[in-house]
Amino acid sequence: MNTPKVLIVGAGIGGVTAGIALRAKGIDVEIYEAAAQQRSPGTALGLASNATKVLRALGIDLAAADCGRALECFELRTAVGKLIRSLPVRAITGELGDPIVSIHRNDVMRTLQKAAGDLSVRYGAEVVDFKIGDGGVSVTCADGRRAHADVLIGADGIRSVVRAKLCGEFQPTEYGYVCWLATTPFSHPRMVRGYCGHYWGRGQRFGLIDIGGTTAYWWGTKNMPVAKARDWRGGKAEILAAFHGWAPEIVAVIERTPAHAIVSVPAQDRPFLDRWGSGPVSLLGDAAHPMLTSIGQGASSAIEDGYVLAEALATAADPVAALRHYEDTRHNRTRMLVRSSRRLSRLEQAENPVVRAVRNLGLRCAPTRIVKRQSIRPMQFDLGVNA
Ligand SMILES: Cc1cc2nc3c(=O)[nH]c(=O)nc-3n(C[C@H](O)[C@H](O)[C@H](O)COP(=O)(O)OP(=O)(O)OC[C@H]3O[C@@H](n4cnc5c(N)ncnc54)[C@H](O)[C@@H]3O)c2cc1C
Repeated sequence: MNTPKVLIVGAGIGGVTAGIALRAKGIDVEIYEAAAQQRSPGTALGLASNATKVLRALGIDLAAADCGRALECFELRTAVGKLIRSLPVRAITGELGDPIVSIHRNDVMRTLQKAAGDLSVRYGAEVVDFKIGDGGVSVTCADGRRAHADVLIGADGIRSVVRAKLCGEFQPTEYGYVCWLATTPFSHPRMVRGYCGHYWGRGQRFGLIDIGGTTAYWWGTKNMPVAKARDWRGGKAEILAAFHGWAPEIVAVIERTPAHAIVSVPAQDRPFLDRWGSGPVSLLGDAAHPMLTSIGQGASSAIEDGYVLAEALATAADPVAALRHYEDTRHNRTRMLVRSSRRLSRLEQAENPVVRAVRNLGLRCAPTRIVKRQSIRPMQFDLGVNA
């Protein structure tokens, strides 16, 4: 059986993981990336057990690479720092079998690039169009370059041009809150090794996370009009004012962060697509199923996508049938993740005092086995069943 030549648009976490997984199957793959060089996103994220499991299967061990910090302690707190509930992290990761790792995005990309070896990534190659035909798909870049492949994968993020061409150009759905995020050198007695604290206020929340090397990753959210969240231009003083009176570690970490290191992102996703492929073209990661950040599964599910895609293309005789099998395999799980993120986001950003009181009481009183089951569910990914 001849393996297809695959062209991936986008060298983000999803595109590069897919490239590594495809090449491990002996598939000829090339990535076209719009940025002039590998991006340095500056902030961090959590890679859930499902992601670290897939990376391990691809020979990428984040612990051995000595970057990031395995989660050891997850606490939900009120705005002023009163403990609502500790999650049973050891029991959760023990059952899942792989760690949850909080890690700087630069370290993720560096580790992936290292594992990718001589995988061909063409930087400065912004794909603007593609045409299906001649037994495959031809791609055009902004600088006039053209390329041909048997399969095209759009891994080009929430504003994917491949998705727009396949499914129509629509604006993302906006949820009326902004997320500020940054990493900074920081130590505090509350931030013990492997700490992740989520603090819930009124229409606002804050995350403080140990990513190793005495560095903290923090994010804060705040409800505001959609247009303001989309194009937030405030400064650090506005963020400090928003979290005035919150737990001392929160105020301290914001104060410690240089203003230029703080990034702002509006809360956005898109309506879930019933089908995200056509002929030899498909999508992956945020291009296919962008989700709100609440359950921290956007990048982790993009990593899963790459693994499943490679399994499908390596085993089916017909690449087009392989793409439809990949989409079918991913459909229910990614829809569940998109919906769960929206549901949790509504609860987390709630302003209504009754809703917030019931939410916190529910969490305080819920039996540990239920909390554990609900925490495990989004991270359950069986390599065999999903291939
Ligand atoms: C505030 C915040 C916190 C988050 N926290 C987490 C978390 O804790 N855990 C988690 O799993 N996920 C998290 N996510 C989600 C995660 O960041 C995304 O889901 C993930 O980065 C998606 O990866 P991707 O490769 O699909 O897309 P992207 O990372 O968006 O990469 C797309 C790539 O395509 C390139 N590109 C775009 N257009 C073109 C073009 N026309 N031609 C060529 N190249 C192009 C871009 O330059 C980019 O390199 C968070 C997101 C946000 C906003």
